[in-house]
Amino acid sequence: MLRTTNLQKVFTTEEIETTALNGVNMEIKEGEFVAIMGPSGCGKSTLLNIVGLLDNPSDGNYDFFGTEVAKMTERQRSQLRKGSIGFVFQSFNLIDELTVFENVELPLLYLKVPADERKRKVDAALERMSMMHRRNHFPQQLSGGQQQRTAIARAVVATPKLILADEPTGNLDSKNGEEVMNLLKQLNDAGTTVVMVTHSPYDAGFAHRIINIFDGRVVTENFHI
Ligand code: ADP
Ligand code: MG
Repeated sequence: MLRTTNLQKVFTTEEIETTALNGVNMEIKEGEFVAIMGPSGCGKSTLLNIVGLLDNPSDGNYDFFGTEVAKMTERQRSQLRKGSIGFVFQSFNLIDELTVFENVELPLLYLKVPADERKRKVDAALERMSMMHRRNHFPQQLSGGQQQRTAIARAVVATPKLILADEPTGNLDSKNGEEVMNLLKQLNDAGTTVVMVTHSPYDAGFAHRIINIFDGRVVTENFHI
């Protein structure tokens, strides 16, 4: 279970304080598919980054599958980030100078996985995302949908228990967006917990549950299905 208790995040830039999160309390169970929704600027990405251990809260508690994050060393947080969490972003975040294969291989390189095992795992992830035929291409040679499928292959190659997706279909047309959502659904069906920020009611329909954020707080939770 992921649990935040009174999570606060204040950004201070040039003496201007922005309260991005103002007491977020939420629980996400293992195996759930949760959509986080809310107007632009309400704190969705800030929350997802903290959930993904990419950023630290200013105050409050965060329990990551049974361990209090504040009590972890930076090294433990970094190990969890690399080994247990896969990230998918609106902008794909692929490295232009690396091929599809090399982009997907990166998390395994960080985890010091031996070369033969890396090749096997990257090929399996590319196969799963129907990207094998493009493994030696560079990101700029791919369509948006193919770039996002490569990014998802990179997110899942180290078999994380948690996938975090920040507006994963935001730069895609509806056909490619649907394909990406079906892939996230398949990963969730196979047991991976998925937390996704989205503006799209269609995408949110793939989730078990929606958490609505407004002004840095959870306002209501809509359950459906
Ligand atoms: P959302 O993803 O819901 O659109 P964000 O979480 O990106 O919103 O941002 C929430 C608020 O925090 C906004 O007012 C934004 O300007 C501010 N913010 C986000 N990141 C930073 C940062 N690194 N430095 C300063 N302010 C930030
Ligand atoms: Mg955002």
